[in-house]
Amino acid sequence: MTPARERNRQRLMRLLEGSGNGSCADCGAADPEWASYTLGVFVCQSCSGLHRNIAQISKVKSILLDPWSSSEVEFMESVGNNTAKAKNEQIVPAFYYRPTYNDCTLLREQWIRAKYERREFLSLERQEPYSAGYREGFLWKRGRDNGQYLSRKFILSEREGVLKYFNKHDAREPKAIMKIHSVNATFQPTKIGTAHGLQITYLKENSTRNIFVYHEDGKEMVDWFNAIRAARFHYLQVAFPGAPISDLLPKLTRNYLKEGFMEKTGPKHTEGFKKRWFTMDDRRLMYFKDPLDAYARGEVFIGSKENSYTVLPGLPPSIQDNHWQFGITIVTPDRKFLFACETEEDQKSWIAAFQIVIQRPMLPQEYAGNRSSHYLALPPLYFSLIYIVF
Ligand SMILES: [Zn+2]
Repeated sequence: MTPARERNRQRLMRLLEGSGNGSCADCGAADPEWASYTLGVFVCQSCSGLHRNIAQISKVKSILLDPWSSSEVEFMESVGNNTAKAKNEQIVPAFYYRPTYNDCTLLREQWIRAKYERREFLSLERQEPYSAGYREGFLWKRGRDNGQYLSRKFILSEREGVLKYFNKHDAREPKAIMKIHSVNATFQPTKIGTAHGLQITYLKENSTRNIFVYHEDGKEMVDWFNAIRAARFHYLQVAFPGAPISDLLPKLTRNYLKEGFMEKTGPKHTEGFKKRWFTMDDRRLMYFKDPLDAYARGEVFIGSKENSYTVLPGLPPSIQDNHWQFGITIVTPDRKFLFACETEEDQKSWIAAFQIVIQRPMLPQEYAGNRSSHYLALPPLYFSLIYIVF
């Protein structure tokens, strides 16, 4: 390396220690090793790949491996992550989902395009597709029984407080009406098997109903996602007047704490272990025969340690008919739930997910959980209530 090149590299390394430059400008990942020398931002390797998709705007180089000219380094010195953020993220709506390095490629790519290519956060008009309170369009929806994707018209209306879809393009009556207060949306590219796959859930007669949708255009799909978040945000602002925005934002949409296969037994522990797909959604542990089932076969409410919930590695010694060897016992005030994982790593990560909710004290509204499932274990306070009701 020539002395000039080495000097420039050293200047870049010093810049990385500056405020804001120690994490990726787009996803927050620590220690970025790439930079866009046309936008003046330091980014992680993964986001640098997404910048290559907007090569007309952003040109990226490796800080360590590529040669840098003095003028390029001077430009990086004059901008940097904090200045770029102040410029490109001037008016990001509170409800808008800001992806992190844990999020799927689609969310990160559309965030990068929204910021630098479409410049959505410099003008309110460009935010219409998710800010208007009404959105209408077609999405590919997976058929509940045959798994075939068919084009369906969706309408989101904040005024009506609903998201609905129609089976026939000219149908007057919607096939389903999903109340905004119970809707959740989470991107599930791996499970759905398409990069733009979105799982939408809502409560139907007290059961969680799943639908799976996508749109070929990534912007369309992320606009739908943010429009749902906007509707939830405005609903929550009315439902909880005066609540700080920071309390409402985590409630707009939830990603699942963990998903995957485990084996389970029935309540008597004598029916043999069956392999099922499990989803840990906040305090609801739901299980499905197929990961893309419309409804859960059952669910277990996971309370907190104050309410006598515990999770232990292993199974009681009398239990033997599990095929998978890495057992987990969840003790609830009502009964024990037994599970088996295929690998030790899986067992550890499920226990860690259960611990997150067990360690967290329960909120008053969490006592009013779903009471519809036969498999549901309820916190002790609720048993007396149920005896009165039924
Ligand atoms: Zn990044």
